[in-house]
Amino acid sequence: MAPELSLTDKHSNKGTGGATAAVQAAPLRAPIPFFRPDIGDEERAEVDKVLRSGWITSGPTTERFQRDFATAVCAPFAIAVNSCTAALHLAVEALGLRSGEAVLVPTMTFAATAEIVRYQGAIPVLVDCDPETCNIDIEDAERKIQAVKSGKLPGVPAEATVRGIIPVHVGGLMCDMARLKQFARDHRLWIVEDAAHAFPAAWRGAASKPWRRCGERTADVTCFSFYANKTITTGEGGMAVCSDEAIAQRMKLMCLHGLSHDAWGRYSGKGPWDYRIVAPGFKYNMADPLAAIGVHQVAKAERLRVRREALAAFYSDEMRDLEAVETPPINSDRIHAWHLYPIRLRLDCLRISRNEVITALKEAGIGCSVHWRPLHLHPYYRETFDWSPVDCPVASEVWERLISLPLFPSLSLEDAAAVVETLRSICRDYAR
Ligand SMILES: *Cc1c(COP(=O)(O)O)cnc(C)c1O
Repeated sequence: MAPELSLTDKHSNKGTGGATAAVQAAPLRAPIPFFRPDIGDEERAEVDKVLRSGWITSGPTTERFQRDFATAVCAPFAIAVNSCTAALHLAVEALGLRSGEAVLVPTMTFAATAEIVRYQGAIPVLVDCDPETCNIDIEDAERKIQAVKSGKLPGVPAEATVRGIIPVHVGGLMCDMARLKQFARDHRLWIVEDAAHAFPAAWRGAASKPWRRCGERTADVTCFSFYANKTITTGEGGMAVCSDEAIAQRMKLMCLHGLSHDAWGRYSGKGPWDYRIVAPGFKYNMADPLAAIGVHQVAKAERLRVRREALAAFYSDEMRDLEAVETPPINSDRIHAWHLYPIRLRLDCLRISRNEVITALKEAGIGCSVHWRPLHLHPYYRETFDWSPVDCPVASEVWERLISLPLFPSLSLEDAAAVVETLRSICRDYAR
């Protein structure tokens, strides 16, 4: 039943509002948000320039953003779109994913990675994660492929062919791409990277091998996010990069209604007025005012990453003696984008749950988050494909221990220290 707002309720709310606030524990310093984007005067001036230009949908600034981004990740082709979700969808469409086929998707990810498989009527086969990095576990991917082939997954029809794999670089720490590529070759799979967290990031096979940027031919298609709280942002936005011209052209076509050439060419006088609908495409293009933010975000991306890296190192140093806290792994063969700083609680050291720790942090004015409740524990995937906690045992256990702490370039060292001190006192107060 819908709650009713009575006149007396309204009066009593008004009357006790101040008193209630006074009873709550007041934080001693300003609240620390989970994230704050880094938008400067350059972005504001560029947006203003675009707004005054009279061309405010996809146009010259979007083209510039695509070029700048392609250069930044050393990719031959880049297509700017209105979200990473759109980029992922365009990627699997261009690779020919069809209804009834299957795709390996990590259970440790955001909704988007699996839903775009469903957009095509295909089936996401959920794969467990590594207990430390939370990245996809290739051994479990192998087990899941065999389980599909032998018809042992109740929610996946035995005749479903596994076509591809969509690894996620959780928090910005890249997966082992050599192992992933070998696995994909062995099973004739395409790879679409969900690199929503991984710009800028890099990987190398060993200290003797050269660095490879995320997006630099690391997969068939690599998809980035410029959502409001990602490492660089346009508010909403995404980018698909690839090195295959035919795949790039298909994504370009499908991102704007399947028209034979785009509106920029059509309206600017650069192209013919007449267009042809050659496929039932989507409306996924990026608009120039957002690309105007993007060009400056790309330019400062490495500086922002270095700042996040320094904050992450500070957190890990300061928390070294906290028995109840496991800090995120680092790896000398990765350049970490540090989109997230996820800690894992050792619940055997504490008398309270992860959720209670989050509540305590919130009461102290510290914003935090959890990445993520794994997909196999969400009602849609449980009910539609019969997934249960035992299907991905590592993710089922580790997610109950995860907390992502505030991490963004303008976070001060004083605030980062306050986060650690608050966590320290929570661990002390509730030690087992
Ligand atoms: C944020 C995110 C997405 C979706 O990005 P949008 O740009 O919001 O569509 C996809 N995958 C992961 C892992 C994400 O964190």
